[in-house]
Amino acid sequence: MKGKVYLVGAGPGDPELLTLKALRLLRQADAVLHDDLVSPQILTLVSRKAQLHDVGKRAGRKSTHQEAIHFLMIELARQGLQVVRLKGGDPLVFGRAGEEMQALRKAGIEFEVVPGVTAAFAAAASVEIPLTLRQTASSLLIMTGQFADDRPVPDLRSMIDSGTTIALYMPGSDPRATVERLAAAGVPRHTPCALISRASTSAQQTAVTTLEKLPNIRAQAKPSILILGDVVRVAKLSRFDFQALSAELLPVQTSAEAEEANRA
Ligand code: SAH
Repeated sequence: MKGKVYLVGAGPGDPELLTLKALRLLRQADAVLHDDLVSPQILTLVSRKAQLHDVGKRAGRKSTHQEAIHFLMIELARQGLQVVRLKGGDPLVFGRAGEEMQALRKAGIEFEVVPGVTAAFAAAASVEIPLTLRQTASSLLIMTGQFADDRPVPDLRSMIDSGTTIALYMPGSDPRATVERLAAAGVPRHTPCALISRASTSAQQTAVTTLEKLPNIRAQAKPSILILGDVVRVAKLSRFDFQALSAELLPVQTSAEAEEANRA
């Protein structure tokens, strides 16, 4: 049989958020190469006959390691194996699938991308934050908190003003630095935000606050994602999983109220 590589999204952690296609491929795979972000429960679904390779990037291993992943994927496919390259969330969102697809194309290896539920969607769902909302948010920006040093800082002011929700992946472990970076990019300090860690798992933690008060919340486990924008005002409020700061947020206007305010 001809070898093939599947770049598969494992979703945010909850095995029930795997697609049926991802589950079928995990059960049929000859080899699975997975990242750190993939939850242990999902790995138990992998066929017992499959080789399991942990190719996570712990211990600061960098680009050479990425090349080693390419090499391994290509070698296994050349042996005629069905290879699953399993990534947390969706493979095309901060998943380095771009480089992997290029390497596979160059090597002439057949491949297919299987999408997964990305962290922003799982985080928003768990806290009941609509990422778009009539009258409030008409666009969604997926961005990383690790802005490249050699690129200009993005202009987020006009985006926030025009009703863009920001899903900030990799917000960084120093909340003060995150606040300063976002403020420098034009995000007003009073912008509501929700920090959600380990979304979709039993260890999920959530805090709702404003950007300037982000450093006041208790440290949360990794990985975490920050959702910013007025839509955060409609987050589900439960005294069990939110910190008290959420009380400071104003309720969002309904469209009828907004129309009335516009007429006045
Ligand atoms: N491909 C992944 C993103 C990989 S980048 C996806 O589509 O979700 C890694 C970042 O994703 C983390 O720093 C964090 O910001 C976010 N992330 C991944 N899984 C998460 C989870 N379960 N809860 C919260 N954030 C998560």
